[in-house]
Amino acid sequence: MSGESAGGTLKVEVDRTRCIGLGLCEAASPKHFEVGEDGKLIILQSIVDSGSSGDLAEVEEAVASCPTSALRFVR
Ligand code: SF4
Repeated sequence: MSGESAGGTLKVEVDRTRCIGLGLCEAASPKHFEVGEDGKLIILQSIVDSGSSGDLAEVEEAVASCPTSALRFVR
């Protein structure tokens, strides 16, 4: 069977019109975010496993630490 368990995952998105490539999100969660050499954010993994408390906490910190509020969770 494929698919995700209900309610088990969240997704994180970046608003590229806001992101200025500071990389605070990468510092908080290097598994999910990387700022490329061109200063553009690469989302390495957009799915956040909310069943894994470490994973979710890191991405929450990344979202909270973004100075331009460019990151947000979507369901
Ligand atoms: S912290 Fe915000 S502005 Fe900085 S790279 Fe991440 S998304 Fe972009």
